[in-house]
Amino acid sequence: MAASSIYASGTTGSDVIVIGGGFHGLSSALHLARAGARVTVLEAEYCGRHASGVNAGGVRTLGRHVAEVPLALASRELWHRLPELVGDTAGFVPSGQIKLAETDAELELLRARVADLNQRGYRHEVLIDAATVRTLLPAVAPHVTGGIWAADDGHALPFRAVTAFRRAAQRIGVTVHEGMRADALRRVGERWEVTAAGRCFSAEYVVNAAGAWASGIAKQVGEPVPEEPVALLLTITHRVPAFCTPVVGATGRPLSFKQFDNGTVLIGGGVRGSVDMAARNGEVDFAQLASNARTAINLFPHLRGVGINRSWAGIEGFMPDGIPVISPSRTAPKLVHSFGFSAHGFELAPAVGHIVAELVTSGCSALPVEPFRIDRFH
Ligand SMILES: Cc1cc2nc3c(=O)[nH]c(=O)nc-3n(C[C@H](O)[C@H](O)[C@H](O)COP(=O)(O)OP(=O)(O)OC[C@H]3O[C@@H](n4cnc5c(N)ncnc54)[C@H](O)[C@@H]3O)c2cc1C
Repeated sequence: MAASSIYASGTTGSDVIVIGGGFHGLSSALHLARAGARVTVLEAEYCGRHASGVNAGGVRTLGRHVAEVPLALASRELWHRLPELVGDTAGFVPSGQIKLAETDAELELLRARVADLNQRGYRHEVLIDAATVRTLLPAVAPHVTGGIWAADDGHALPFRAVTAFRRAAQRIGVTVHEGMRADALRRVGERWEVTAAGRCFSAEYVVNAAGAWASGIAKQVGEPVPEEPVALLLTITHRVPAFCTPVVGATGRPLSFKQFDNGTVLIGGGVRGSVDMAARNGEVDFAQLASNARTAINLFPHLRGVGINRSWAGIEGFMPDGIPVISPSRTAPKLVHSFGFSAHGFELAPAVGHIVAELVTSGCSALPVEPFRIDRFH
């Protein structure tokens, strides 16, 4: 990146324009500013409006695609010392995460996974038997056969995390424009010009962190990608007496489950509603919510009859192989993509923002990002 920037006349200039004020855009902006860049974030609505502000808050290395494991472990380290990075814990609770097996066959799958990870040198997931599961989760149903456990995982508060990163970025000079949707990108000489809400912004680099809308940006620079927007559903129950400390997932069916300090229980884990991309809105599907609630009741039978406070849908970009795009553009100079986190990007954001900053400032990263290249779908 050049030490100084030349702005085209009539434009607002910086070194890097980040498109998208979700957790990834803001984390990238923060790490870029820490590296000395002048950064402008353009957010179409408000920061954290979509997946980043409304997700389940799971800080999970457990059960990750093997390509993501190094990134997830690096990010988890940052979660454990978030106050040093952003001056706030973001509500992070190192509660541990557990993934349950409900049959002997599922337990064998988990056993094979842990053996594979161990062979690759990873020790963060531990196979546990049914008795150990019951020690961690006394209220769990008797049919559970065991599970895997990541003691240093946990959960945090999504909107608080987004806000902490935004404020930390702004404190060191990042400019955040909300209500400013980037419409068009074009190269003008050695720089990018991005038009948004009738204004023109200029920068040497662009970061595409537009979440479920990012494939539209990629398409503009001749890099179409098969990103699918999906509405993921979550539900919060009424308060019940404390019975569950870790975050709980299942192996054979969708479940992400946790109890907050105030007694409410969050239920989700991948059940889907419908998306209206033009309206930028997700709708709940009650049949899916009911199926999700049944899973929760199967595993924690005492929750039968507990009332629901509210349910909602958040829009997330999914890639066909379930792992994100974190990649320099292959068609355009000085453009870095970071999107398609496929329902597990919250945990990754603190470290992936650093990777994006590395890709902008040096063209490569200390962490292995080859599996996330944008041209892997061709
Ligand atoms: C219900 C739900 C539960 C989840 N649970 C978990 C979990 O427990 N753990 C976990 O790790 N992950 C979880 N995730 C996934 C996680 O939330 C996402 O992977 C992550 O937040 C993606 O962040 P992002 O910044 O890439 O995208 P987003 O948060 O979608 O941010 C992208 C932003 O870009 C803006 N934008 C789009 N187009 C433009 C444009 N042209 N110009 C300007 N701005 C634009 C959007 O308005 C949006 O604010 C969950 C997701 C959902 C929906």
